[in-house]
Amino acid sequence: MKLLIKNGHLIDPVEGQNSGKNLLIDDGKVAGWLGQNEKTPADIEVFDASGLVVAPGFIDMHVHLREPGQEHKETIASGCSAAVAGGWTSICPMPNTNPVNDNAAITRYMIEQAERAHVANVFPIGAVTKSSDGSELAEMGEMKAAGAVAVSDDGRPVPNAGIMRRAMQYARDFDLPVVDHCEDKSLSSGGVMHEGRISLLLGLKGMPALAEDIDVVRDILLAKDTGAHVHVAHVSTLGAIEAVRRAKHEGINVTCEVTPHHFTLTDRAVEGYDTNTKMSPPLRSEEHLEAIIEGIKDGTIDTIATDHAPHHSDEKALEYDRSPFGITGLETAVGLTFNELIHKGVIDLVRMVEMCSSNPARIFRLAGRGTLAVGSIADITLLDPNWDWTYSNSDSHSKSRNSPFDGWSFHGAAIATFVSGKLVYRR
Ligand SMILES: [Zn+2]
Ligand SMILES: [Zn+2]
Repeated sequence: MKLLIKNGHLIDPVEGQNSGKNLLIDDGKVAGWLGQNEKTPADIEVFDASGLVVAPGFIDMHVHLREPGQEHKETIASGCSAAVAGGWTSICPMPNTNPVNDNAAITRYMIEQAERAHVANVFPIGAVTKSSDGSELAEMGEMKAAGAVAVSDDGRPVPNAGIMRRAMQYARDFDLPVVDHCEDKSLSSGGVMHEGRISLLLGLKGMPALAEDIDVVRDILLAKDTGAHVHVAHVSTLGAIEAVRRAKHEGINVTCEVTPHHFTLTDRAVEGYDTNTKMSPPLRSEEHLEAIIEGIKDGTIDTIATDHAPHHSDEKALEYDRSPFGITGLETAVGLTFNELIHKGVIDLVRMVEMCSSNPARIFRLAGRGTLAVGSIADITLLDPNWDWTYSNSDSHSKSRNSPFDGWSFHGAAIATFVSGKLVYRR
């Protein structure tokens, strides 16, 4: 089946493309770029993209789908629906399911569930250590063969440098990036928000920026030592960003991501004790937010990832100290990127596409994605930079409702999402 996405503005950072083109899709692949004055081929379905940006499908490198184990919070199918509604054609679930994705059977199961749902692509991230308990290395080679694209113990980062060093040597040999949630729990344990003036005022136990800084520096040194590719998850501190910037200058193989909530909110959002402001790493103070914006501007930060972490409302209704860390994010990320980065002039659309598509594809080695070059897979995100809309938790495609952005208005949205040439969502 052939499809022509007509009259759109095609942005492909990999191909250096940033102008009007018609995109020809055939059998799930990009078959050609046509001039906008060229005659429309006969017997073809046409999608009018007038006024829209046509971008390679967005790839969220960091989500939590609660299947297997906690399907009341999210299933692979519901997570995929939320993803495409937010403009993401591919998502990469972390291994903290129950059981933990530390072996090929679980990795395969997740991919099969995604294929059954047939909405978005799912590229699982396997565990670094068995059960993510930080002691024995997981079977990385077997998980990679089953389809895992990286390894991480995310919320339970490997505390022991010796084990992390061996993990990196092992991951390097399998050409798997090691995604690390950088947090030295000996410094942050018991904390529920950023340690600073606001935590003092609110009487809540703080998690110091230092806990993240120390672990980022450790991982950079280990990356230098082992030659492994370290991808720092949800970078949130000035110190961590400075360390990554220096490491990149030295040619160390390190990349990093930022979440929309960390480039939007500060710890002042915690003042109302809304548990939907509780996540790890926590919302930081103004100086850290400024460093994040600077890191996005100068390219130190490579990608935008949501860290979508669905939780049941009963859990989030607990008091601040006891409620779980994490917020949903798949459906608000593009809106927040438009509001906070595009319309405030921090980055342009080309860089947005790079951060949400081309860079994630490169970092996780997703061949044929992150670009719309002829022959690549026709995963496509259509953006309207001027679409006004309001996000409402009650309309969410996710099974959970724990977003702090309920009722927020946005200027700019993902309008339609195609996966392998098939229209899977239209706003
Ligand atoms: Zn994390
Ligand atoms: Zn996470």
